[in-house]
Amino acid sequence: MNTSSVAEELVSINPANGEEAGRVPVTDPDALDAAVDRAWRAFRDSGWKDLLPHRRAAVLRAIAERLAAEKEPLATLQMRDNGKPLSECRGMVDYAVGAFQYYASACETLETDVTPSRGEYLSFTVLEPHGVVAAITPWNSPIMNDATKVAPALAAGNAVLLKPSEDSPLLAPQLMRIALEAGLPEGMLQVVQGRGADIGTALVGHSGVRMISFTGGTTTGRAIGRAAADRIVPVALELGGKSPHVVFADANREHAVAAVVAGIFGSAGQSCVAGSRVFIEQGIYAPVLDAILERTKAIRVDMPDAPGVEMGPLSSFHHRERVDAFVRRAGQEGGRLLCGGGAPEDPRLGRGAFYLPTVIDGLGPGAATCQEEAFGPVLAALPFRDEKDLIAQANGTAFGLACGIWTESFKRAWRVGRALEAGSVWINTYKQSVTSTPFGGFKSSGIGREKGLNGLRLYAQVKSMYFGLQETPLPVAK
Ligand code: NDP
Repeated sequence: MNTSSVAEELVSINPANGEEAGRVPVTDPDALDAAVDRAWRAFRDSGWKDLLPHRRAAVLRAIAERLAAEKEPLATLQMRDNGKPLSECRGMVDYAVGAFQYYASACETLETDVTPSRGEYLSFTVLEPHGVVAAITPWNSPIMNDATKVAPALAAGNAVLLKPSEDSPLLAPQLMRIALEAGLPEGMLQVVQGRGADIGTALVGHSGVRMISFTGGTTTGRAIGRAAADRIVPVALELGGKSPHVVFADANREHAVAAVVAGIFGSAGQSCVAGSRVFIEQGIYAPVLDAILERTKAIRVDMPDAPGVEMGPLSSFHHRERVDAFVRRAGQEGGRLLCGGGAPEDPRLGRGAFYLPTVIDGLGPGAATCQEEAFGPVLAALPFRDEKDLIAQANGTAFGLACGIWTESFKRAWRVGRALEAGSVWINTYKQSVTSTPFGGFKSSGIGREKGLNGLRLYAQVKSMYFGLQETPLPVAK
């Protein structure tokens, strides 16, 4: 936990120095019931869902403007809440601004269908909100993940109950405040705080919640999927990954090495799309691995607000223990620790949850280290013989979130990109993410696609309407 419970409060601990970053009240079950009631009242009575789309869009744009105006304090708060470098936190606020801007535009331009008629009627579709939606987000990128769900859910006319992780509870209340100040009716966005096992479970099981949007680990995703199935409510699951990053012999080596290192060690590996397995074509395995190691050892691990910092601490002390246990197990599985594998010696970092960027090789593709998500700065290096061998190894996990391919051959990039089981394929680049492009996973990496116009439709249900045009009464039998 990044937080400790004090009576009815969660206390967020800054993982860079172990000091308190802030505290929030926990939502108890009665307060959850009241929040769901308030959300339904707001949904039915506030007029939000009935606003003409361009007027709803105006409020979403005002939220974007206010987020932009508060970029620095929000970024600083997120840095304290989960330890990410300040530059990354600024980027995440920019992302949130972009999400509200994009869904404002999408809200007022999204069209529905007039469908081909087969009789004397006019048939067409409209989109209706679900009502009250639960949005549950993880600790790694709070403001970004919150905006990815809240902006389209509001754009579609829903009321939202946002539950951030107990480990990073500080940003969601700020987003709610800003949204209300920007003109969102009271009750349309509320924050539910507390532990996932308690209030999270109560939220997804609540009879007043009509749709669930979840980002987090696959185990939790399964439990939420089961709860949604029991109540037959739609669910979107954005889950974990074990993404392969592939370097072919003809790749631009300098760019490939830089991307492999950035792809796993950016955000200290605490990214669902972290390229945690690098597959290197056999003939260039040794020199490419050497170049990866050289760049990895030069990564600047420092306080998140230090100039030039590349990697801050892990998001919590308990998460550091988890990552370290993962690395120890790799050793037991026969892995060779090539660098990292512990906390830095720099005494300035001694009070924080820092962990060195770690590279391991010598593991088979079936080793647990190559199958399970560390969600930390741990890279497993693996050689491959040819495309067939690569595809078998790379697809040989339960996950299918993302992948990267480095080759100068566009035909190979096309073949391999189509063959790899992943929701996002980056060719000669990595970890690009834009609000306007769908995002989600194959296999155990999730169900549904957020972002883009799909991201708006996710929070709406299609209603089909027929306008009768017949001049004579309907017959009982045709
Ligand atoms: P968790 O699955 O533990 O938690 C995610 C959220 O779910 C938190 O708010 C958590 O609350 C809550 N939660 C936990 N248990 C329940 C429950 N039974 N019912 C309802 N809510 C619950 O994931 P982490 O926070 O550890 O996040 C890391 C994971 O998220 C990684 O596996 C990563 O791959 C994935 N992720 C996926 C992304 C994607 O888009 N595909 C993006 C970012 C991360 P609490 O923390 O209070 O327990």
